[in-house]
Amino acid sequence: MIILKSNREIALMKKAGHIVAVVLAELTQKIKPGITTAYLDKLAANIIRKHHATPTFNGYNGFPANITTCINEELVHGIPSHKRFLEEGDIVSIDCGATYKGWIGDAATTVPVGQISPEAQRLLDVTEQSLYEGIEYAKAGKRAGDVSAVIQTYIERHGYAVVREYTGHGVGRKMHEDPQVPNFGKRRKGVKLRRGMTIALEPMVNMGVAETRVLDDKWTVVTKDGQLSAHFEHTIAIMNGEAQILTQL
Ligand code: MG
Ligand code: MG
Repeated sequence: MIILKSNREIALMKKAGHIVAVVLAELTQKIKPGITTAYLDKLAANIIRKHHATPTFNGYNGFPANITTCINEELVHGIPSHKRFLEEGDIVSIDCGATYKGWIGDAATTVPVGQISPEAQRLLDVTEQSLYEGIEYAKAGKRAGDVSAVIQTYIERHGYAVVREYTGHGVGRKMHEDPQVPNFGKRRKGVKLRRGMTIALEPMVNMGVAETRVLDDKWTVVTKDGQLSAHFEHTIAIMNGEAQILTQL
């Protein structure tokens, strides 16, 4: 069931989203070789609590941390750890959710650690841009498939693969609501977008094959071929015209 949000509810989600944006911006500034992913996790929790919100991911389906951190071939659901140090040339993605007055913001970014290869930088640029290509099509009257198709086309045109197993999703009082918005699909298919829908779009893009597998920790998802993966996400509100991005500064 798709839950449409009122203007007042969207405004609350924007507050939650703003907190997530602050977390991602502050963590991005701290990212450098030698720090641990657990340090980023602690920092995120502090920022979220300082804003009178709670870390949505903590305990979600039993997840044992406040954010997810994914290095290089890891693409989603990585668990921050005191043993995991960032190294020069890595790429690290951070996915963060904050719940404010019962409403959720959900966003992710992928950040270079020190100097990265031009190939890795291109992967980040294309993945981020694919998100904005999707957002441009996300407006009332379009269909979910229009958004999916434009994201997929942009990614594949640049020679990368779209992850199939994990998708964008409705978000609101719950982190995962209807509709699902995959990062692949066909134009003019899927649910019609309506004003008041709130959706997290989140392309996950692999440099090599599209296939993924889950590590023995039962959480961390990695690319099957061990090549790099990038992830960008925004929560948006569907409007009659341009979508409102709820998770930006
Ligand atoms: Mg997320
Ligand atoms: Mg999400």
